[in-house]
Amino acid sequence: MSDSKSPLPAISDLDHAGITALVAELGLEKYRSAQILDAVWRSDATTWAGVTTLSKRAQETLAAVSRFYSTETVEREDVEDGATTKLLITLSGGAKVEAVLMRYPPDPRRGRGERATICVSSQAGCAVGCPFCATGELGFTRNLTAGEIQDQVRLARQILRGEGRELTNVVFMGMGEPLQNLDPVLASIDGLTDPLRGGIGQRRIVVSTSGVVPGINRLAQVRPQVTLAVSLHAARNPLRDLLVPLNRKWPVEEVVTAAAAHARTTGRRTTFEVTMIDGINDRPDDAAALVQVLRGSDSHVNLIPMNSVAHTPWQESSAQRIEEIAEQLRASGLSVTVRRNRGREAGAACGQLAAERAGTPPPAAVARRRELLVVASAAALQGRRSPTPLAPSGPLAPSDPLGGGDAL
Ligand code: SAH
Ligand code: SF4
Repeated sequence: MSDSKSPLPAISDLDHAGITALVAELGLEKYRSAQILDAVWRSDATTWAGVTTLSKRAQETLAAVSRFYSTETVEREDVEDGATTKLLITLSGGAKVEAVLMRYPPDPRRGRGERATICVSSQAGCAVGCPFCATGELGFTRNLTAGEIQDQVRLARQILRGEGRELTNVVFMGMGEPLQNLDPVLASIDGLTDPLRGGIGQRRIVVSTSGVVPGINRLAQVRPQVTLAVSLHAARNPLRDLLVPLNRKWPVEEVVTAAAAHARTTGRRTTFEVTMIDGINDRPDDAAALVQVLRGSDSHVNLIPMNSVAHTPWQESSAQRIEEIAEQLRASGLSVTVRRNRGREAGAACGQLAAERAGTPPPAAVARRRELLVVASAAALQGRRSPTPLAPSGPLAPSDPLGGGDAL
């Protein structure tokens, strides 16, 4: 490693072959590879010293060259009577991300047993800068490594093991745009689905994107069993430019076309997410525009009331309004679910805790931000496209919403 301050590599950043090579390089016995994999993915140890299956010499040798967890600190908050656990994780260099563990009781009507889903972050902050999103307001800090993503899942499994439960699903709906950090996300999916590591079925993994078209195409080619969710929010370009600034690069039509190609290649239905914002994207015209772009595609629409975020002047749509929009969509032949359980199922609350901890910008900046959003949304609702996106108002450095993360 060139920088003496760089942290040691995390063991979860090594795949099967990498661990075998490390064991050989360190002069440890060959059978240690299987013990290490088992300890990393199936034990309650949190440090090398806690891995009781390894000899003291092996523990010390491994600790000298690698970290057992990439997380520096983990703060836990249990909410909703223990059904949801939020983990606020500090990574090396001080970046903070959030992971949310959601437990669901059995649902006999749908033939489902007990489930537990972890919503993981793929980046600290996000460069896309959707103005209704707490993470978007923060701006971009850095990409996560594959190990840092997998360690969120390891933490969740450890918590669940203590409760006699199993992790069943992983959703990339936490902080960050997974398809702008594609290679580490793909490597983390490899780890999570490897029978010797995570052992989770690819079909139980959902990747949610704000519409990175080349990333959608690549995902279809390389991980065809993974489920795709697309955060659409609006079907008309002027409004989507505002709600999802990446729309200036890949407009609605291109995103929907890429999603349709993904569904054809993979045989898996795409979910389109629409965060419902009062008076912004919840009118009959919005529903009609959605119908127009999604008609004929193999898709499902999730309507989710917006969680209020400090820096916006916006509120969630009323339950009645959401139901009316859902009815309008259904009447046009679309399959629709209304998520009443705010934030939980969509993982939409991910990022809010980390955003709160990152500090609040000065009141004047918040007020200015709100004013800008009022003006920009009024223009967008009149169908006017603005040439420049709004920069995030958060405490971090402004980022380039069209760049950031992997160059695709
Ligand atoms: N960047 C990816 C994945 C993370 S965001 C994406 O945008 O798809 C996960 C989901 O939470 C997205 O559908 C996003 O639109 C939604 N979301 C973000 N902020 C929200 C808020 N304040 N209220 C409700 N949903 C929100
Ligand atoms: Fe990034 Fe997704 Fe939040 Fe948009 S909604 S800012 S893409 S995390």
